[in-house]
Amino acid sequence: MHPQTRDAPGDDGLPHSRGWERGPGGEGLPPRSPIRRLPPLVASRIAAGEVIERPSSVVKELVENALDAAARRITVELRGGGLDEIVVTDDGHGIEVDDLPLAFVRHATSKLAHEDDLMRVGTLGFRGEALASIAAVADVDLLTRTSASPHAWHVAVRSGHADAPVPATRTVGTTITARALFAELPARRKFLRSRAAETGQVTQLIGALALAFPSVALTLTAEGRRVLETAGDGDLVATIIAVHGRATTGYLIPIFEDTDERAPTVVRGCLGWGEATLPTRAGITLLVNGRWVQSRSLTFAVDEAYRSLIQVGQHPIVVLDITVPPHEVDVNVHPRKAEVRLLHERAVFAAVQRTIRRTLAGVGGPRPSSLLDGDSERDGWPADGGPANGQGAGAWTRGLTVLGQAGGTYIIAEGAAGLYLVDQHAAHERVLAEQLRAAWDGPTGQQALLEPAVIEVAPRAIGALRERLPEIAATGYDVEPFGDGALIVRAVPAALADRDPLRTLRDTIEALADEAPADDWCARLAELVACHTAVRAGDHLSTEEMAALLDQLGEADLCQACAHGRPTAILLSHTQLAREFGRLY
Ligand code: ADP
Ligand code: MG
Repeated sequence: MHPQTRDAPGDDGLPHSRGWERGPGGEGLPPRSPIRRLPPLVASRIAAGEVIERPSSVVKELVENALDAAARRITVELRGGGLDEIVVTDDGHGIEVDDLPLAFVRHATSKLAHEDDLMRVGTLGFRGEALASIAAVADVDLLTRTSASPHAWHVAVRSGHADAPVPATRTVGTTITARALFAELPARRKFLRSRAAETGQVTQLIGALALAFPSVALTLTAEGRRVLETAGDGDLVATIIAVHGRATTGYLIPIFEDTDERAPTVVRGCLGWGEATLPTRAGITLLVNGRWVQSRSLTFAVDEAYRSLIQVGQHPIVVLDITVPPHEVDVNVHPRKAEVRLLHERAVFAAVQRTIRRTLAGVGGPRPSSLLDGDSERDGWPADGGPANGQGAGAWTRGLTVLGQAGGTYIIAEGAAGLYLVDQHAAHERVLAEQLRAAWDGPTGQQALLEPAVIEVAPRAIGALRERLPEIAATGYDVEPFGDGALIVRAVPAALADRDPLRTLRDTIEALADEAPADDWCARLAELVACHTAVRAGDHLSTEEMAALLDQLGEADLCQACAHGRPTAILLSHTQLAREFGRLY
């Protein structure tokens, strides 16, 4: 609650004689000032500051208004990172001249008539605050025309005061120009970052809105240069490529689930894999009931679902459109409506993770080889394991014939689609990790040691370990700290009994101490154990061992990546081979 925005009671009503006002140690406080009502313009600037923090906030409100007005084409122009000028032009339905006097009045809106409507807001805006807030921190010009009007109208707003509309010319739609942002609020301006950084923020915002509305053509220019442009033809994959670049081409999987439309949570969208990753989470775009939201917890759920499928330190490019019943989401919890509150948050997370894992497991095949050729081969997925046929995980390893081992490291195998090279360590690691997780999902087998063993670990690892004791116990280890820097082990998981369980435990604990606390300790342990115990590059394998490994890989849930996200296998398709040898042009 911001006291300035509350109706201040004024001096008169306040009790001055109460003892607690002086309180202990009160002598050191500065003399008390009377409470005064803020001049309206100052009050409105402070309130505006909650909504309008930076150029991207202005752009968000203006573009959302254009979307609410059913625009099909919206352009955003920035000058000086948006601080000098922001122009948003749309071809929406425009504003009636009779409504213009109210457009810049706080809490005046055409989108919400009753308080009850708040629970089923169908538009992006509903508070009737944005135009008033923008006008409080910038000079604004509005040019608008409806289809019923023979000409356009222009309204100039200076220092929060709107002039009467005057006739003007333009086609149906609205153009709003905001100039000299925060010129009267030097403190606010100081908090802003460089113009380039502000442009970056707007670019991310427009990208997200473009992904939320693939049927609307959005164009962003900054300092006269085009930064982003979408076609607005409704094609989500094409929109993702427009927003995140051509490197994502061929690595985007639309979510096709037999969704029960009556299910409480429906997840649609598109998942990136392979090259479609970024070193930041900026590629994760989340929509809840069509509204772009920034939710740390939902983003985490997405990241978590991808863990071990992509390289450590990378994050996926993902667009998720999550639909929940309108009364189960509250969009009115955040001044900028950037966050939402979900009534059944956990159930929504579970649905998101389930959808991601199912869709990615359906990819099933090895990554397309990048050895010989690029783009054209991405379409040439093997018939027995391409992303499009949805045959499920592991289909590609079926019916492979082992031809031999290269460099003591790669299994060479042949299948219907061509020649496969399988990284034996990566493949074995994936198989072991899956087996361990499966073992721990069931009742945990434990093997007691004949004599308790003491193992030494780094002291910093002991601290991290204490919080993890229950989870470690769940894997079958019976472990207790034993002074500073040692552990006493009484039992080990049966699944690890012949896999050097003590060394594995020590390595895992040390490795985990250096990582941010992982959410799922068991999964992490399984990955690390698998990495430690899998066959190594350079280990000689017999043909039978290699065939057995490929079989097991076929059964693993997610066979296309090892636990660290490196590829498990590459395919040299018949087409690629034929082209390489000049048999195909
Ligand atoms: P809200 O969007 O919450 O209603 P705003 O202050 O953003 O509040 O806008 C006030 C009103 O001005 C809107 O309710 C809408 O009727 C009108 N309006 C604003 N921008 C546009 C636009 N680009 N096209 C049509 N109408 C608009
Ligand atoms: Mg609005």
